[in-house]
Amino acid sequence: MSERYVRVFQKLDVKTVKDQVLIYGDLSAICGKCNEPDLPLRAKNCKNCGTEFKYIAFRNVRNHLPKLKGLAEECPGLIFIDYDDFKRNLDEVKAKDFLK
Ligand SMILES: [Zn+2]
Repeated sequence: MSERYVRVFQKLDVKTVKDQVLIYGDLSAICGKCNEPDLPLRAKNCKNCGTEFKYIAFRNVRNHLPKLKGLAEECPGLIFIDYDDFKRNLDEVKAKDFLK
């Protein structure tokens, strides 16, 4: 098998992603929409706001690479995004909105 994970660049609306992303830290995840903490890695929905997670971002992807394969098999619709790309672009958009 020569299948490996390679990052693909895709144009996304970061505000939409923010409302549908599960952000995984070291031991647990938070909801991107309402910041509910202590969600499990395999959370499909936020227990607080009910958001259905379509995206997942790892704060420290290198530490969690081994989890990717199992998670992708369990949740075939889940889209893996790069946390740094997401955060940087969201901060840019927020700054622009602030200056309007
Ligand atoms: Zn939530």
